Amino acid sequence: MYKHKVLITEQEIARRVEEIAGEMNKQYGEKTLDMVCVLKGATIFMSDLIRKLQMPVRIHFVQVSTYGTGSESSGTVSLHFSTAADLLDRDVVLIEDILDTGITLDYLLKHLKEKKPRSIQVCVLLDKPTKRKVNLQPHFRGFEIPDEFVIGYGLDYQELGRNLRFIAALDPSEYKP
Ligand code: 5GP
Ligand code: MG
Repeated sequence: MYKHKVLITEQEIARRVEEIAGEMNKQYGEKTLDMVCVLKGATIFMSDLIRKLQMPVRIHFVQVSTYGTGSESSGTVSLHFSTAADLLDRDVVLIEDILDTGITLDYLLKHLKEKKPRSIQVCVLLDKPTKRKVNLQPHFRGFEIPDEFVIGYGLDYQELGRNLRFIAALDPSEYKP
């Protein structure tokens, strides 16, 4: 595995996931929720989170491809939904692993709003606010982190590291953007 430094432990993640679920339970009550999970990074976060929710939940997946050079997002994004997600009049929560520049979530939000949901909120596990390029505030947020490349708990580097139970900063010696 790559050299890394643990930033957020398994226990800290579990506690925060529980708290976020508590906020959602309070806010949505018995309303059915439609979760839209951004592949692949948010899958582990979503699976832990939804098992702490008390209301009925539907899940959907969307694959986002960004075209750009290096590690920076470009403005060009394409979407592929796992199911023809009918979100008309639904209460939707868009779940993402990490909010960085915000370009990906901003694009997704605009697209999902065209499906005319009753409400739509954004839930991110991690937030790197220093990198933001578009004005986007997540409604639910796990942790704010510094501008380091992180892996674990769903997040990868070259497709590895997703199964780590914690979140870790990748050692810069391993990282080739
Ligand atoms: P942005 O907000 O810049 O449009 O894009 C966020 C996406 O970039 C995330 O969904 C994630 O795939 C990727 N990303 C940004 N920062 C990191 C990071 O530190 N680690 C990993 N594994 N992916 C990241
Ligand atoms: Mg991602």
